[in-house]
Amino acid sequence: MGSFTRYEIAVIGGGAAGACAAHRLSSTGARVLLVTLRERENAHPIEILNPGARYALARCGLPEPARGSVPCEGVLSAWDTETPIFHDYMLMNGIAGLAVSRREMQREFSVACRASGVHTAECLRSWIQSPTIHQRWAIRWMNLRNKLLEAHVDQILIASGRSASLGLVDAGRRIRFDRSVAIWIPYVHQYHAGKLLLEAVSDGWWYATPAIQHASNLVFITEADLIPKTGAARAKWLARMFDETKLLNVCARFSPSFSAISATDAHFGMHPTPAFQRGARIGAAALALDPLSGTGVVNAVEGALRAANDVILGHPLSNGYACFIRNIAANEARLHQHTYLKAAQRFPHSAFWQRRIALSKHIAIA
Ligand SMILES: Cc1cc2nc3c(=O)[nH]c(=O)nc-3n(C[C@H](O)[C@H](O)[C@H](O)COP(=O)(O)OP(=O)(O)OC[C@H]3O[C@@H](n4cnc5c(N)ncnc54)[C@H](O)[C@@H]3O)c2cc1C
Repeated sequence: MGSFTRYEIAVIGGGAAGACAAHRLSSTGARVLLVTLRERENAHPIEILNPGARYALARCGLPEPARGSVPCEGVLSAWDTETPIFHDYMLMNGIAGLAVSRREMQREFSVACRASGVHTAECLRSWIQSPTIHQRWAIRWMNLRNKLLEAHVDQILIASGRSASLGLVDAGRRIRFDRSVAIWIPYVHQYHAGKLLLEAVSDGWWYATPAIQHASNLVFITEADLIPKTGAARAKWLARMFDETKLLNVCARFSPSFSAISATDAHFGMHPTPAFQRGARIGAAALALDPLSGTGVVNAVEGALRAANDVILGHPLSNGYACFIRNIAANEARLHQHTYLKAAQRFPHSAFWQRRIALSKHIAIA
């Protein structure tokens, strides 16, 4: 190899947090590198941008995905009661939410970053090496043609999301408070256009997003050790969990197929050191919330803006930014505690809900 390029700042990961930070930093004239993994072709997650997330994106100058997104009026939930309650985004915030394809969102973020002068690099893999040469970080990545490239940077923002690890810099140091898993189920619905549906059952909770191009996400969030090991037992258990719902199963147009499922990590976790010398972790790489909060994107964007502004102003990231992350974790845990207690009242014999209550108490105190 031998040759490398110099930048002032590298951002690793082009999701909401990474794109927002890169865009903000570049707008002040800084030389910014954004390294992000190539998209996986088979994933089609739909994400809800609540009004807070929409305002936060507008504040940092990032566009909302125009293609394929549909309005989300609010959340219709059957949580502590079988009678659904509607939380109207419009009424509370003056604007609706938006259901967006995560892939489209990242694509548009990438275009916006390039337009604002960010050097973006798509890669197959990337690594970070601790500062050695002139106190600069060395970033290496394998580009889409399998060529190894290198850049040296003064500061680094790690925005690699919930599950990703970046070798030495991250190895084994994340705290996982739980082992939540999101199980995605093929699903077609017709009765709840424009609303996010949410429902608690005994071993977890379900949500269904508004449909984008006739496809919506039906997801069951549970804990890894509750999932039966064999395919047949798993399908039976999921069907039983779906039968427990009073809101979701009446909205299903066809019976969901519980055998053709896929799963993803949905843990609630935090990095003990959101900030370090010459850098920080932002977004889910710093703090991954229980998806129940629905505030993942807004917190990722707010945190990224905060970190980027600290870099611009030359403030140490270990002060205000690190406190910001810890406060969000504690506040969210307190809010969740309340929600978990409500579900536990409805399912008093559920080990799942008792565990969530204990978990949230632990985080709120920490
Ligand atoms: C099941 C589920 C449903 C959710 N639904 C919602 C919702 O509806 N609304 C909401 O607000 N939040 C939701 N969240 C939370 C939300 O997805 C996250 O909080 C948010 O995506 C965090 O943004 P991020 O930029 O930190 O990470 P991500 O969006 O995960 O982006 C990380 C990026 O880094 C890239 N990357 C990873 N490793 C590397 C590497 N080594 N080198 C380069 N690039 C790398 C990844 O490819 C990815 O593009 C949900 C979470 C889960 C698990």
